[in-house]
Amino acid sequence: MATAATETSKNYIGGEWVDATGEDTFDTVNPANGETLGTFPRSSDADVDRAVEAAKEAFESWRLVPAPKRAEILFRVAQRFIDRKDELTELTVREMGKVRAEAGGDVQEAIDMTFYMAGEGRRLFGQTTPSEMLDKFQMSVRQPVGVVGAITPWNFPIAIPSWKIAPALVCGDTVVFKPARDTPMLGERFVEIFEEAGLPPGVLNIVHGGGESVGERLVKHPDVPLISLTGSREVGIRTAENGAPLLKHIHLELGGKNAIIVMDDADLDLAVDGIIWSAFGTSGQRCTAASRVIAGQSVYDALSSKLVERAEMLRLGDGLEESTDVGPVVNRSALAKIHSYTEIGVDEGAKLLTGGEVATENGLDKGSFYRPTIFGEVEPGMRIAQEEIFGPTVALIRATDVDEAIRVANGIEFGLSSSIFTRDVNKAFRAMRDLNAGITYVNAGTIGAEVHLPFGGTKGTGNGHREAGQAALDFYTEWKSIYVDYSGKLQRAQID
Ligand code: NAD
Repeated sequence: MATAATETSKNYIGGEWVDATGEDTFDTVNPANGETLGTFPRSSDADVDRAVEAAKEAFESWRLVPAPKRAEILFRVAQRFIDRKDELTELTVREMGKVRAEAGGDVQEAIDMTFYMAGEGRRLFGQTTPSEMLDKFQMSVRQPVGVVGAITPWNFPIAIPSWKIAPALVCGDTVVFKPARDTPMLGERFVEIFEEAGLPPGVLNIVHGGGESVGERLVKHPDVPLISLTGSREVGIRTAENGAPLLKHIHLELGGKNAIIVMDDADLDLAVDGIIWSAFGTSGQRCTAASRVIAGQSVYDALSSKLVERAEMLRLGDGLEESTDVGPVVNRSALAKIHSYTEIGVDEGAKLLTGGEVATENGLDKGSFYRPTIFGEVEPGMRIAQEEIFGPTVALIRATDVDEAIRVANGIEFGLSSSIFTRDVNKAFRAMRDLNAGITYVNAGTIGAEVHLPFGGTKGTGNGHREAGQAALDFYTEWKSIYVDYSGKLQRAQID
């Protein structure tokens, strides 16, 4: 931890806050006003190697700590998150930019996940099954795997690390954590809480720095058998390639291009609430954000005018101000990328209904603010309807019936979240079955996952693993099948 704002922060390795080996640093900046919050090291390969060594050594004793005892530390961690919730919430607003209520939700998700995974300390169930043979007992048990490289994005700077680190630790793995370059201070606070809760040295380490340096070193390190990475599709593919030569277990949680379907029979006002929240909450920077709305012909016009009216009422500003509805986007390059998609949409012939510009009034130019943007008359194949923009931009698409709506919703490379607003139970069940996505909501927007259900997506959103719920345990453990023959003689399966 840095002791003064001007000092460079340290890595946490083997239970100590230590200087990185090199001199190179980067700053973390408040996206609402450009204020520099802290300076962090661009760690080197040697720093990563040192952290992996510490984690590898700690694994040998941590894997033998009874899981209920590992869980006791996690219960204390969850309580520390509660005690420090206000402070973490405020720092999340300042470092990442989301508004206070959502920042509180980010921290709350970590609390929920940590309690949930701590509960697993007394479960981590395996199976016992009958044997084909007399006097033979058999069972399957979960076993820890080793060192996990946890590589996280900036958009849920407290929640996402908890999705990876809490299950890893309760399962008996140890961790080297690399937070995103935009939110290193929150990564540091996160690790401090585990230190305060009494986690043994080396079980959780943090190394700051870039994806192509620290991240890649972790992915290629021979002593890191598990990599869990949440980020963009491009980085996910590169990570899968980099980990392939060592046959690593790689868990990828990548992008989304999530759609809300609004059928002609829907409760329109409820749908508008769901769309505004899902499209513009967190300034559209959620993997589950709604960036497409697929509307029935008879509701399209009314829906589009209600959405424009509501979007224009949203107040942009610093997330610490009570009056703010929509905070900044994470940095200037995100702002430029989001705006480039507005230009692409206009060039493609979509109708810009509102927004489409960088907001600069009343001091907003000091930060990175983009006006909530709605495109109408979007064709499903347009780039603004296919590519992840990761900003407050939503595309309205027409559909004639539920079949076409589902076809359009599925006609993308991603498969994370999906939603349908309808009062017709038959259409709802069709959507639940046929939307090709890891998550489907009925009469709610595309966001709102809870920690005890699996989280993740189909197709280009990932590689088949899931975070959260029981499903997460499958990534952080390996199954071992155990056969005990107490017959006193040789018994041959499939032969005797
Ligand atoms: P990003 O891919 O740029 O970075 C994610 C993390 O990977 C960062 O820590 C980064 O430093 C690291 N990284 C970058 N290059 C790397 C490399 N070559 N090797 C190893 N690590 C590397 O993503 P971002 O901008 O931080 O986050 C936004 C993206 O994350 C969006 O695409 C969003 O949809 C996705 N996301 C997905 C989920 C999900 O659960 N599916 C959740 C949140 C965000």
